[in-house]
Amino acid sequence: MSEQGARVSGRGVLLVVAGPSGVGKGTLIHGLRGKYSRIEWSVSCTTRDPRPGEVDGTDYHFVSRQEFLQMARERRLLEWAVVHERDLYGTPREPVEHALAAGRDMVIEIDYQGARSLRAALPESVLVFVAPPSIQALRERLTGRNTESDDALKRRLRSAQTEFEHMGMFTHLIVNDDLAQATEALEAIYLAERQRTTRAHFTPLRESLLEDLEA
Ligand code: ADP
Ligand code: 5GP
Repeated sequence: MSEQGARVSGRGVLLVVAGPSGVGKGTLIHGLRGKYSRIEWSVSCTTRDPRPGEVDGTDYHFVSRQEFLQMARERRLLEWAVVHERDLYGTPREPVEHALAAGRDMVIEIDYQGARSLRAALPESVLVFVAPPSIQALRERLTGRNTESDDALKRRLRSAQTEFEHMGMFTHLIVNDDLAQATEALEAIYLAERQRTTRAHFTPLRESLLEDLEA
């Protein structure tokens, strides 16, 4: 079945991916979007500094604290939170609401607080938690990525503990040990969600099948 043909109609899938920093969320999402180019990426706003190579408007919207709080006051963020004990991160409202209403799928990488807010705002959200096979592996990935200062690394490991404490609120869990298997698991969750009858408008299809039978 073609990618397009697999879908009937209706609202898009909102895949919400959380888990500790360095666990591989970005890598898994990149793999999924590489295969399903129709899945849109929600570009978050953040007050943290860009890392070398990060592109404003693509990886994040890098904004000042003042701009961020202005957006929050104007309700232009679907959710926002203080992450890693310092920086503000938030999901712009309009692109998500617009994409879902138009039947386009979207993936959001977020912390557990954001996942909780999204579940309240958009109950159809599919909440996926990505866990590492061990703390040792998580540390190695975080340090191996070579993007964080010592202080940022420590804050990220402290946040990991809080993330693990909230694993219970997620509906899906992926242990990212073998990357290929973890990518397959994320794909399976996505494909299953696309086929939900609550999301697809089956009524027109059922009616046209019945009409054709009667003809
Ligand atoms: P996150 O987005 O969760 O912060 P990243 O996707 O940036 O994490 O991954 C952190 C590092 O771990 C990257 O260098 C990535 O290549 C590596 N990585 C991701 N998944 C695996 C895996 N299954 N096994 C080994 N290394 C991995
Ligand atoms: P990083 O600074 O490593 O890019 O991201 C740190 C963490 O911020 C991510 O792992 C994710 O949990 C969280 N995050 C990214 N975007 C958002 C967002 O829009 N809202 C919330 N609540 N958290 C986010």
